[in-house]
Amino acid sequence: MTERDPGTSILAGTMAEMTYAEVEAAARSGAVALWAFGVIEQHGPHLPTGTDIYLPAAKLRRTRALLAERGIGAVIVPAYYWGVNHVSGAFPASPRVRPEVMAALMEDVIASLSDDGFRHLFCVTGHGDAEHNRTIYEGVRRGSAGRLIRASFLAETRLVGRLGLAADDPLVTPFEPAPSGPSRPFLDVHAGEWETSAMLATHPALVRDAVLPSLVPTNFGPEDLAEWRRGLEHARRKTPHGYLGDPAAADPELGRRSLEAQAVAMADAIAARIAGG
Ligand SMILES: [Zn+2]
Repeated sequence: MTERDPGTSILAGTMAEMTYAEVEAAARSGAVALWAFGVIEQHGPHLPTGTDIYLPAAKLRRTRALLAERGIGAVIVPAYYWGVNHVSGAFPASPRVRPEVMAALMEDVIASLSDDGFRHLFCVTGHGDAEHNRTIYEGVRRGSAGRLIRASFLAETRLVGRLGLAADDPLVTPFEPAPSGPSRPFLDVHAGEWETSAMLATHPALVRDAVLPSLVPTNFGPEDLAEWRRGLEHARRKTPHGYLGDPAAADPELGRRSLEAQAVAMADAIAARIAGG
């Protein structure tokens, strides 16, 4: 792997490549801030542990380009990657960070962004764990309380519903991507067809494609998913190889279409939110 091109860095295109003066000018000109929340987590024998960071980072770069076409400036905050693992927590390389650690860090960074002059911040997730996503919401709530910045959790409508949040909660900006792939009879949730497809589309050198044909689909339904979501040793027993879905069916074109549909829906939701004040 050392000789292979690792693909685009998660810092590419972010504030980390800008000077302070450029960031200051962007904030003054009304640029919005975009921030992805991923995790280091096992992703089967074929995907890197940073999958949930690489993918939202790629999505935000595309979202920023789509916003620029609409005349909306955006600064990408370097991705947060010490998210909360519950489901994969019994696997190696899936650190169990306490939610309060993540929420406290979010509060401090959001306060700083507010002081820097940013007035809109959109936080997105790269990781499906419910506890991780509840923590993003909590960090957004704490970070924006009593401050000038309006922060919100930019999240797919089905995730908003799963977390029990109201679609009109001011701390939430829901979005709904257009369907981008065929519907399948079995669930594809973690390191399966869609996630492997998206990694093949954005970071192909990081995918262990030689093992893909040997990965048998899990063919799980909702009851299996409920058992897997109990997490830790339950998840490891349910999916000993770490993936839930059908990685061998991955197709980079499907990955490209799904990332584009999400970026378009995110840019639309951000533009609508800003127009609403
Ligand atoms: Zn993932």
